[in-house]
Amino acid sequence: MQNGHKPESTTPTTVVMGAGPAGLCSAYVLSKAGHPATVVEAAPFVGGLARTIKRQTDHGEFKFDIGGHRWFTKNEELNDLFKEVVDDELLWVHRISRIYFDGKFVDYPLKLANALKAVGPVTAARAVFDYGLIKAQQKLNPTEVVSMEDAYINQYGNTLYKLFFQAYSEKVWGMQCSELSGDWVNQRTKGMSLVTAIKDAVVPSKGKVVSLIDEFMYPRDGFGRFSERMADSIRQNGNEILLKSPVEKIVLDGNRVKGVQLRTEEGSTLLEGENFISSIPLTVLVKIMEPSAPQDVIDAANSLVFRDIITVNMMFRKPKVTNDTWLYVHDRNILFGRFHEPKNWSPAMVPGEEYTSLVIEYFCTRGDHIWSMSDEELVNQTVKHLVEDLEFVEPEEVIGGFSVRATKAYPTYDVGYQEPLNKMKDYIRGIENLQYIGRGGSFRYNNTDHSIETGLLAAKNILGERHDLEQVNAEAEYHEIKRQKERATVTS
Ligand SMILES: Cc1cc2nc3c(=O)[nH]c(=O)nc-3n(C[C@H](O)[C@H](O)[C@H](O)COP(=O)(O)OP(=O)(O)OC[C@H]3O[C@@H](n4cnc5c(N)ncnc54)[C@H](O)[C@@H]3O)c2cc1C
Repeated sequence: MQNGHKPESTTPTTVVMGAGPAGLCSAYVLSKAGHPATVVEAAPFVGGLARTIKRQTDHGEFKFDIGGHRWFTKNEELNDLFKEVVDDELLWVHRISRIYFDGKFVDYPLKLANALKAVGPVTAARAVFDYGLIKAQQKLNPTEVVSMEDAYINQYGNTLYKLFFQAYSEKVWGMQCSELSGDWVNQRTKGMSLVTAIKDAVVPSKGKVVSLIDEFMYPRDGFGRFSERMADSIRQNGNEILLKSPVEKIVLDGNRVKGVQLRTEEGSTLLEGENFISSIPLTVLVKIMEPSAPQDVIDAANSLVFRDIITVNMMFRKPKVTNDTWLYVHDRNILFGRFHEPKNWSPAMVPGEEYTSLVIEYFCTRGDHIWSMSDEELVNQTVKHLVEDLEFVEPEEVIGGFSVRATKAYPTYDVGYQEPLNKMKDYIRGIENLQYIGRGGSFRYNNTDHSIETGLLAAKNILGERHDLEQVNAEAEYHEIKRQKERATVTS
């Protein structure tokens, strides 16, 4: 990383809102180019949803991501950036993920042969029949895909949808699949279908679909190191990151931003700049404009929702719980949806070989029955599920646990979300010197790679290039797969 000079004071400053990976990436790129940039962040730490939390105990230090974050991308420029930042802390991790389904384990992502074996011959025959039926219907009488339910049934048929997608999706989103937009499925499973899976299983070809994330990169001391190291570099290049400084107002002067009003420990202050990049949730951004955005834009923001998450971080005196990278738990009687075992990602996440930990993800909405549970109730509920329902641990192996709450973790694509979203985006595009980036910032289900890509391109726009940020994460192929012939460039 560059340990450089202070940026020229005559260059106009860029103000970056939010110190998650997207905002930090913008400031990292600008800082390396010698451009003044100030990052303003509401929280007392950097990393946003992609941070790593440390917990000191009598047994030593445990580290937890907000749900395990793996690095994967098909974009070599982003891969190089990640490697440059994480540098000598980089690990390669082999991925094994499974679905826990009806007391059995099924590979994730869904592998056809394995899934059909797990459901038994009668259900497997029904699944194949249903799949044939839906494909025939699509040919003879194609219907429009509107909801998530339509999209899953179109891709997998009714039986596999009901078995493997319906319960889990409803756990994640807290809504019925018929109320959610098909866009999420199309964005996540582009190019994947039973036909491709069968074809690729029977006739391995040069262009065989492989999962990009059979192996992935991970920083030794947790994913949060990616953000922390970008922050170090930004500061070393003479730029500032103002923590505990939430943006309260975006002060406009005509169709330009003049400055952002910050609430700091010393009081309110106006930070002026020439260019502005926002990674704060889009639905919040349009509501803090001064003068205020038109009422239809505010109404649009009010009509869109995010899903929240609580992670329960459990510590054990036990060498291992599972071999999995992730385990997806579809069972409706178990309140959490997924967990990962950090030690399987990096041994440095636990204090020693005799210890392990789990990060358990409870998808929820602020104020609902899960959100309303206390820290203690959440830990007790988790122990009960792990000990009694899943039989993964013994009560005496539990050292302790604690929960972390993150709001606005998942932008929810409900049916009809596009219209209000476009309204908000059109309004922001009318402001000359303001760009929106990131996951919540774009209201797009972006992983870290796509989030930082928007941050990178926004910075390049300020440095004189021209990029359309709306093209990010709009590829025609599912972003977790890559054709075999390209793989060498990914894993090298
Ligand atoms: C459970 C879970 C698992 C995930 N797993 C993966 C994974 O395996 N791989 C992967 O690549 N991605 C994963 N992601 C996605 C990843 O977390 C996001 O893509 C990434 O964090 C988005 O970065 P961002 O900077 O856009 O947003 P965020 O990380 O949300 O950062 C936004 C920042 O803005 C700040 N902010 C908000 N409002 C204000 C304000 N008014 N003023 C100032 N600051 C403000 C916030 O405090 C925050 O720090 C996962 C996400 C979740 C929730």
